[in-house]
Amino acid sequence: MAKHQFQTEVGQLLHLMTHSLYSNKEIFIRELVSNASDAIDKLNYLRLTDENLKDAYATWKGEVNISFDEADKSLTISDNGIGMNDEDLIASIGTIAKSGTKSFVEALTGDAKKDSNLIGQFGVGFYSVFMVADNIDVISKKAGSETAYKWSSNGTGEFDLVPCTKESSGTVIYIKLKDEEASEFASKYRIKNIVEKYSNHIAYPIFLNYKEEVTETLSEDDKKAGKEAAKSIEDKREKINEATALWMQAKAKLKEQEYNDFYKSISHDSTDPMLSIHTKVEGVSEYTTLFYIPKTAPMDMYRADFQPGVKLYVKRVFITDSEKELLPTYLRFVRGIIDSEDLPLNVSREILQENRVMANIKQSSVKKILSEIKKLSKDEEKYAEFIAQYIRPLKEGVYQDYTNKDAILELLRYKSTKTEAGKMTSLEAYKDRADSEQKAIYYIVGENEKVLKSSPLLESYKKNEIEVLILDDKEIDEIITPTMGAFKEWEFKDITACEPPKVEQNEEEKKEVEEKFKSIVEKIKDKLGDAVKEVKITTRLSESPSCVTKDAGDAQMAQMMQMMRAMG
Ligand code: ADP
Ligand code: MG
Repeated sequence: MAKHQFQTEVGQLLHLMTHSLYSNKEIFIRELVSNASDAIDKLNYLRLTDENLKDAYATWKGEVNISFDEADKSLTISDNGIGMNDEDLIASIGTIAKSGTKSFVEALTGDAKKDSNLIGQFGVGFYSVFMVADNIDVISKKAGSETAYKWSSNGTGEFDLVPCTKESSGTVIYIKLKDEEASEFASKYRIKNIVEKYSNHIAYPIFLNYKEEVTETLSEDDKKAGKEAAKSIEDKREKINEATALWMQAKAKLKEQEYNDFYKSISHDSTDPMLSIHTKVEGVSEYTTLFYIPKTAPMDMYRADFQPGVKLYVKRVFITDSEKELLPTYLRFVRGIIDSEDLPLNVSREILQENRVMANIKQSSVKKILSEIKKLSKDEEKYAEFIAQYIRPLKEGVYQDYTNKDAILELLRYKSTKTEAGKMTSLEAYKDRADSEQKAIYYIVGENEKVLKSSPLLESYKKNEIEVLILDDKEIDEIITPTMGAFKEWEFKDITACEPPKVEQNEEEKKEVEEKFKSIVEKIKDKLGDAVKEVKITTRLSESPSCVTKDAGDAQMAQMMQMMRAMG
């Protein structure tokens, strides 16, 4: 037996799986079926593009098989997909080849329900099987290779890896269930129910194989003669999912429930999405997209190594789910699929990035998504939920996506000196409330709403009844807002760096005051020294004695420094 040690983080993860994550155990079936489907996707793609596999797999059809054995307390999930060799097995299940495992362990909250939702998001789905298993055997043979391997583990410390025999390529996962889980999961109804719930629209058929006791049907004569009906055990095989690419079906025929179920099957999220956007485009370019906005922002939205949420297909053949450029970065919270009729199957990453077909799909998809978000914004309550989750990436969009800047600005919402507590305003509504002569959108940036609202700088604005936006997400507002330029010709102005509007300037009076306070100003200057650039008499305050301001040049400088810091 060849023994291998689990890498430390994997060991940690497995310990958590077996000891802490008890809620929602059923998702292990979703995760294993999704791995099976990924493996079939990969082989399906290879046999169409790799000369060496073309002939051998000419008539091959991908499928997933599930079987169970009550007496043996076991469950088996197998696929005829790409399979794994010894190296793959070690890299994929046993080490933290992917950054996901470590991030997962770091992200755990201790709340079992939340944590089990993280499993899929961080790409550690396979290990979820240890929530229900005493022991696992993974028997796998890679397409195009001669040797098969058996990986076995009870989820503690180490795993065994030995060569074995297996006829065709693919993977069999044999799960020896824990005693207390056996009656639940070695069950026809339970498995059917879970597959229907999570994997109904996996593009390949999933068959449930089981044995059933059948009683012979007796004829009337036999019954009269008092004959006993014979009982026998029969093998049954039943397809338990729809096995269609949901996105190819007509919009009119699909129900919300079906859209939601499909979302759950591709996103590893167990909550319904906030928005589904299904689009079929025909004409010069032909493609279908189905996008979703999750109710809560994906866990890794603010990580540089975030998992992209959109999968690319070409004529129903899965191409990639690791391409971050399918949508712009600021829309990285969007989940879904793009299926193109025009791209070549052997499209490479490089081709994708320069491809006109792809660029066109991307551009139209962004427009579509933004316009659907705009529709959502008509419902104030729902939109508040959207804003709570996604205002930050939207703000990033303002400077990432120049073409759609105006559309994104319309979607932003801000607190202001005129909004009620807990409410926000759109820029459009700000404009509507303002005097049409104002021609500027005033704002102040800082860390804390309360502090900002009591800034002495606001006094002259209050007096003149001019609304000021309160931007209290300093980290991002400070960088983004100065780059926003104008909204419908109204320029954005930072009130810490611009002259207050409508102040009556009586030159005579100003001079007089300046003379009168000259010596005080000198004294303050003396005391503050290099800490300030200048000390001036001002007319912008009405209640507070003094305030600190910066000039426009400084503001730009500060912002440049911020941006450069952000870019490392
Ligand atoms: P993810 O699916 O997000 O990559 P998992 O923990 O579910 O993470 O699986 C880890 C890896 O193990 C997969 O990326 C894949 O390379 C491999 N794997 C798991 N199951 C199979 C399978 N049935 N066939 C082929 N490879 C598999
Ligand atoms: Mg997986």
